[in-house]
Amino acid sequence: MTTATLSKPKLGRPKGSKTIKQPVIVRIAKSRCPVCLSTDRSGYWDVRTRPGSGKAPDDMPYNKSRSKQTRCRKCGQVRTDVIYENSF
Ligand SMILES: [Zn+2]
Repeated sequence: MTTATLSKPKLGRPKGSKTIKQPVIVRIAKSRCPVCLSTDRSGYWDVRTRPGSGKAPDDMPYNKSRSKQTRCRKCGQVRTDVIYENSF
């Protein structure tokens, strides 16, 4: 018997193991009413896929976007929420 077989298992990650990036879940902030800043809104209707690609307001490129109509539950203002996505 060698000392290697008697050695305790090492704690932690073995040397040279690859760092694997695990997916994380990020909840996207709710859209707000531009009038009263409330996030309380009705369900969406008139969801449309919009053609085209470009740069979203946050300066990130996108190749898909969808617009959805919603109504503020607090003041009744109707607004269009646009979701920008960049997917393969
Ligand atoms: Zn409002």
